[in-house]
Amino acid sequence: MKCPFCSAPDTKVLDSRNSDEGSVIRRRRKCEGCQKRFTTFETVELSMPMVIKRDGRREAFKREKIKGGIEKACEKRPISEVQKDRIINNIEKAILDISDKEIQTQDVGNLVMMYLRHLDPVAYIRFAAVYRKFQDVEEFVNELKHDEHNQFKIPPQHLGKEDNREY
Ligand SMILES: [Zn+2]
Repeated sequence: MKCPFCSAPDTKVLDSRNSDEGSVIRRRRKCEGCQKRFTTFETVELSMPMVIKRDGRREAFKREKIKGGIEKACEKRPISEVQKDRIINNIEKAILDISDKEIQTQDVGNLVMMYLRHLDPVAYIRFAAVYRKFQDVEEFVNELKHDEHNQFKIPPQHLGKEDNREY
């Protein structure tokens, strides 16, 4: 790693530490040239699939888009940033299990719903209400009644349904 102060090519690692449950490695470094110290962070960069929108257009997967929807659904709920980050990480992993090439926007939405349902019933209902069309309300209420018995599964008839929300 090049020194950010004097651009010397050789810097020495003084200390390496795992943080955020091992998903980030923090290294304290010292420049052999100018003696200044700095820190680098090493993280994994996942190569996510392209998202196919309902009109057939493709766009790059954006973590911030999912995060925005989840933030909104979780407003004023007792859910920490760590919990939100964790479910977004899990959603990304689940997406990669489906494909690392391309994924339908509704599959992304369904995964978000599945994980929110697991996390917090109110956040789930808020997200689902926006995600699904309002004509669906009756069906949706029936499904919620069903939830007590069938807690964390999306009924198969809802998979692949069209949504209003773009991911
Ligand atoms: Zn230096």
